[in-house]
Amino acid sequence: MFLTKKSLLVALTTMGMATSMPALSQSSQVLNLYSARHYQTDEALYSEFTKQTGIKINRIEADDNALFERLKSEGKNSPADVILMVDAARLWRAEIEGLFQPIKSKTLETRIPKNLRSNDLGEGSQWFGFSTRARMIVYNKASMKLENVDTYEKLADPANKGKVCTRSGSHPYMLSLIGAMYERQGEAKTEAWAKGMVANMARSPKGGDTDQIKGVASGECGVALTNTYYLARLMRSTKPEDQAIIAKISWVWPNQASSGTHMNVAGGAVAKNAPNKAAAIKFLEYLASNQAQQYFADGNNEWPAVKSVKTTNPALNQWGSFKQENISIGAIGKNQIYAQKILDRVSYR
Ligand code: FE
Repeated sequence: MFLTKKSLLVALTTMGMATSMPALSQSSQVLNLYSARHYQTDEALYSEFTKQTGIKINRIEADDNALFERLKSEGKNSPADVILMVDAARLWRAEIEGLFQPIKSKTLETRIPKNLRSNDLGEGSQWFGFSTRARMIVYNKASMKLENVDTYEKLADPANKGKVCTRSGSHPYMLSLIGAMYERQGEAKTEAWAKGMVANMARSPKGGDTDQIKGVASGECGVALTNTYYLARLMRSTKPEDQAIIAKISWVWPNQASSGTHMNVAGGAVAKNAPNKAAAIKFLEYLASNQAQQYFADGNNEWPAVKSVKTTNPALNQWGSFKQENISIGAIGKNQIYAQKILDRVSYR
């Protein structure tokens, strides 16, 4: 439960404790954080912010959909100050539904690359990406050849009939990928691709990215798509069953000779009716600092959004650098509507 400064004062006065709390004005500096993230390193991330600023963080953690529902039902009375979500498709949807507010911050504008934040219509951006993830192709080492699976486009080639496993096309990770394709090559080509994907499916879409990787390792699928952090997690796992999966598969950065690998973000925004707006902006600026960037990205095996920050993650460092798609994350978010229409037309569930 959240207490506003006023209700806290009333509560304390009623209890006759107000005078015994001389530091009330200071300790009432709070930040209400709604987060779809929950990683171990986040503890250090938040406690360091409190140490630096004296602002205490109240945290609500839930998955993206639960956060959506909660924010919508709370409406104007929501105590939320900062909202953290993953994937451009979700951030865009939250922006459109009016859950965020635009903010002006020199720090964020300088540190977060333009293509990793929402469009600035003069009042500032509504949300900022703080870490990036790539959508990678994984394939079965024994049954597939690299040259047949090294682009997103090739996954829809008739040569890969019966080989492709995929999660639901309507999942935000797929909508963003298809939204990026739509931006690059337009509607007709994107629809032809989606149709080819449906024709090539080894099974009906099901499960998450890790399930696709497992399907590739077992041989049920020849090839699949995954966000990088799921693969990094398996690579860094010491469990024999995870290492057995890694031994059976190989991976490739898609589209290196053309558009580059599709990138997405985890990001944050100031809530529409943030009671503690100044603290909220301070927190987002803190997330763009060097130390916070490392915690934020490493918590989920992602890359820092701030280009000058180096990662110390062994899986990511093993992968090295690669050509990244350079499409505005804002455009990708917006295109999800067209992506979903295409998916419906070709019955890509
Ligand atoms: Fe994920």
